[in-house]
Amino acid sequence: MNPLLNPKLPEPAYKEEFTAGRLFTYRNPSDLTLWERLYVPEVLRGLSITGSIFFKNMGLWLVWLGYWARGRANEAPRGAVTVYYPEEERPDMTKVNRGKHILTQRLNGEPQCVACYMCATACPAWCIHIDAGEHPDPAIEKYPVRFDIEIDKCIFCGYCEEACPVDAIRLTTDYHTVDYLRERMVYDRDYLLSWNPTKVQQEHVYPGGEPRRG
Ligand code: SF4
Ligand code: SF4
Repeated sequence: MNPLLNPKLPEPAYKEEFTAGRLFTYRNPSDLTLWERLYVPEVLRGLSITGSIFFKNMGLWLVWLGYWARGRANEAPRGAVTVYYPEEERPDMTKVNRGKHILTQRLNGEPQCVACYMCATACPAWCIHIDAGEHPDPAIEKYPVRFDIEIDKCIFCGYCEEACPVDAIRLTTDYHTVDYLRERMVYDRDYLLSWNPTKVQQEHVYPGGEPRRG
């Protein structure tokens, strides 16, 4: 047997399963070390990481308190700040933060997307799922019959936006992606198009740039 044509590949560290329209990725159990299989040491390791960050922050704030008491608060290092989201929001959120996606629209409200799959191919989280359909206009060729983004898997890298040849997908600065239902975290085509406030119900509106014209 030619080893080049029939290479013995190692088992993948992660397994994937496509169930009910969603791609589930989980750690291959045979890839776990004995230490990881014992479970408790890994839990303790996680707690030690969280605990060390907690005590580091607390230490930093105690140092800051000492500086503050001497009227030199601006000179002191500060620990991390926790906000009570969603009641509070970070005041220092950058204006170029990458958040929820939108699909841009043609003048007639149809998606600008030509279902080329470039974004889905570029996506490192495999969270874009597209089904292409034939467009009645021969000049357009294809359009997305289905365009889903699993926002709970997205890492907001912006690669989809970079890969798109027709500026059909953009990331807005809106980072409110939380929800109580996992199913609602799959943004479908109509939801992604619904950012246009002239077209949609209130709960679907979120800010985005102007659609590309023409
Ligand atoms: S931002 Fe990155 S992870 Fe999210 S959908 Fe786009 S390519 Fe995928
Ligand atoms: S959003 Fe852009 S890159 Fe993705 S399928 Fe549509 S046209 Fe292609």
